[in-house]
Amino acid sequence: MSRKQKKMLYRILASAVLFAMALFLPLGTAALPYYLLVYFLIGWDVLWQAVRNIAHGQVFDENFLMALATVGAFALGEYPEGVEVMLFYQIGELFQSYAVGRSRQSITALMDIRPDYANIEQDGQIIQVDPEDVAVGETILIKAGEKIPLDGVVLEGDSSLDTAALTGESLPRHVTAGDAVISGCINQSGLLRVQTTQVFEESTVSKILDLVENSSMKKAHTENFITKFAHYYTPIVVTGALLLALVPPLLFGGLWSDWIGRALIFLVISCPCALVISIPLSFFGGIGGASRRGILVKGSNYLEALAQTELVVFDKTGTLTHGTFQVSAVHPQQISEAALLEFAALAESYSDHPISRSLRQAYQKPIDNTRVEQATEISGHGVRAVVDGKTICAGNSRLMEQIGADWQECHLAGTVVHVAVDSVYAGHIIISDEVKEDAAQTIRLLKQQGIRKTVMLTGDTKAVGEAVAKQLGLDDVYTGLLPGDKVTKVEELLEQKSLHGKLVFVGDGINDAPVLSRADIGIAMGGLGSDAAIEAADVVLMDDAPSKIATAISISKNTLQIVRQNIVFSLGVKGLMLLLGAFRLANMQAAIFADVGVMVLAVLNASRALKTDRF
Ligand code: ADP
Ligand code: MG
Repeated sequence: MSRKQKKMLYRILASAVLFAMALFLPLGTAALPYYLLVYFLIGWDVLWQAVRNIAHGQVFDENFLMALATVGAFALGEYPEGVEVMLFYQIGELFQSYAVGRSRQSITALMDIRPDYANIEQDGQIIQVDPEDVAVGETILIKAGEKIPLDGVVLEGDSSLDTAALTGESLPRHVTAGDAVISGCINQSGLLRVQTTQVFEESTVSKILDLVENSSMKKAHTENFITKFAHYYTPIVVTGALLLALVPPLLFGGLWSDWIGRALIFLVISCPCALVISIPLSFFGGIGGASRRGILVKGSNYLEALAQTELVVFDKTGTLTHGTFQVSAVHPQQISEAALLEFAALAESYSDHPISRSLRQAYQKPIDNTRVEQATEISGHGVRAVVDGKTICAGNSRLMEQIGADWQECHLAGTVVHVAVDSVYAGHIIISDEVKEDAAQTIRLLKQQGIRKTVMLTGDTKAVGEAVAKQLGLDDVYTGLLPGDKVTKVEELLEQKSLHGKLVFVGDGINDAPVLSRADIGIAMGGLGSDAAIEAADVVLMDDAPSKIATAISISKNTLQIVRQNIVFSLGVKGLMLLLGAFRLANMQAAIFADVGVMVLAVLNASRALKTDRF
């Protein structure tokens, strides 16, 4: 409990004791001053807020409703009721602020990945510095038990990393020299010497923290609806109460005190706080629960939309497959196998494409960058670079056609990287990729969730693309697509969905950032993917596991169900109480009790959204 909440608790306890004493004291003419004293003790801030709101022109909120109702009760001579209503209201408020605080805390706790310092070596001594002061390319040391402060590559050391805070994955990940590490993981065993590849602001931790902090800015339709609803609802209720107080006494000779009493009860009942609080809280909980599982959702609107997913469109390389290719054959023409691989690896040295990374890996020797000039990437085709003064092109048959090299088909299965030296064909390298362990399961899970269609888009050849699609059980596959074609295909698919249905595109961000932003919901692989993807995407999967798409959809459905339960429940009880109140079947205590009760239950229900372990 915060200090403010504790103070409120003491205020409530003191007022409750004083209020209870009033029932035993023969107050006589002192009754009004005594009750007023207790009333101001418990309610001064509500009254003050109501007055301030009126001064700011924002009249209708729950403070106003409570002030009006309780002042009204006093005016009618029902002092105890006035105090009681205020007391209950404050108990409800305290509970609510406690519940909201708790949810927030559990989200910040689970987001407890911000590193406090980085160790650097200076004149043979290890000193701690602010992670923000470490430049790219500097060497940092991470001891066992410490958080990795910045993204980088391991220079030296062997250790296992606890990535649970980022990916929800409990199995530790083993890293050794040459492996990339991301900030926010915890180094479990050995000492690691890491060369940083990003400054702190650009590191994974900062991005995730930003993302989670800003996620509540993007409101769900339901949230916007509730805000709008409250905007119209409160004035309507106040007008209703006014009519109830004035019309019967004026037109039908009713008793003033009787009808004003009913109008006040009507006011108390109509307070919409349960909805206004519990719905954003549910979405907040859903987003927090998702991030616990390594799924970062950038806003309530996306969490809401996921439940309506109809089509799921996948990129192949790096999304459904690992994107780490093994070289299965090298078929040179005129030059040696080693020379062919060397040319390819050098030409690919500046690219981030999974194919490039794999070729460099297969080459095994360190890359001498001074031999490579004018490296350019031709997206969807391959690369071109000047190596040792010769123009090397490496890529698919389309690229060979473009430069007029006389390429040859290969009988082996796999992705073919053709290589040309000064526009003369020099042979090809066959590489093959493996599908991710959970890829087939992902398609099955999505089918079970009622997803109408799963589609794969790839720039790879027909043979490779169709083999993967068949293996995984996808409904449709489109091959040989350039990055621009992927956008066109997604636009075609967008036409196929129903009015409220949503299209999800899942990619690794290499060559597909435009598609990610074109889809209704773009999901990016965060671990493997590029920074551009994480920026363009609406949802980021930290552990690159496609099955987390199904998890995200389940979390979304669960959150929306909780939201619906809260709407139906609180509006239902409100409606019932309004009716009872109008017919004088509910008094003011019952009204306020129902109001606080509904709010407590709605908030408790909302906090269930945070629990996502079972999905
Ligand atoms: P995907 O849709 O499978 O993710 P891309 O659009 O990234 O594929 O690439 C499509 C095709 O273009 C690849 O299958 C490959 O043949 C070729 N290609 C793209 N980039 C490169 C590269 N850096 N080196 C070699 N070939 C490449
Ligand atoms: Mg790709």
